[in-house]
Amino acid sequence: PAFVEIDGVAMRYGGADGTLALRDCTLSVARGEFVAVVGPSGCGKSTLMRLVTGLWPASAGNVVVAGREVAGPLSVAGMAFQNPTLLPWRTILDNVMLPLEVVEPHRRRLRREREAYREKARQLLRIVGLDGFEARFPWQLSGGMQQRASLCRALVHDPQLLMLDEPFGALDVFTREELWTELQTACATLKPTVILVTHDLREAVFLADRILVMSARPGRIVAERRVPFGRPRT
Ligand code: ADP
Ligand code: ADP
Repeated sequence: PAFVEIDGVAMRYGGADGTLALRDCTLSVARGEFVAVVGPSGCGKSTLMRLVTGLWPASAGNVVVAGREVAGPLSVAGMAFQNPTLLPWRTILDNVMLPLEVVEPHRRRLRREREAYREKARQLLRIVGLDGFEARFPWQLSGGMQQRASLCRALVHDPQLLMLDEPFGALDVFTREELWTELQTACATLKPTVILVTHDLREAVFLADRILVMSARPGRIVAERRVPFGRPRT
């Protein structure tokens, strides 16, 4: 069954003569599937991500996630972008735990529950090699390390949907490939539905079950390929 369904979506920024970013864009992603979206710069990939996560409303067409029309920001989604977006006044651990506070801000949590969350955050930081840095502040770490922490934050609340907009784009090639494996490890236990935007075809082939190709603006899906060989998934 489809977890994300986008049907005939159009998106025009800023009034009738504004930029038409997407037109007649249709795709569907199964629950637990890992999909990569590739396409030329400016074709509307980030716009697509904003529509799926409910950050922008579509100008036309339907966006359905988990059987419901998307009408506002989705808290079931974890998100990571090209640059780390950590809060400078919070430690790495407290940054990673942020979604747990934001998703249900009014709910009082039992101490045991908070402890379980903290353990979850620590476990993710271990997976990406940041154990020992929990109490540091973002500015005390390298850009690559901050990006790893941002990825942990996207995963900490067990999101059913993981939206990754070029999360490895700004990293050097070695760090990037290390993080691919770390992302796979994290996804193997959480099994979220993933939509990854990337410029890197090797990355798409390595990580995704299926690759969707977008046309130049106005973007729509013009081709798709199932990745034909198995990935090492533990
Ligand atoms: P991609 O992620 O594929 O590079 P984007 O979705 O960022 O593409 O952009 C698609 C088109 O929409 C581009 O022409 C871009 O200039 C335009 N666009 C993106 N965001 C905005 C915005 N907030 N306001 C106006 N135009 C925008
Ligand atoms: P990157 O941004 O790819 O992590 P850097 O050259 O900035 O690259 O850092 C390389 C490595 O050095 C990091 O991955 C990390 O292991 C270590 N490192 C960088 N900054 C710090 C820091 N402030 N404290 C401890 N180790 C660090």
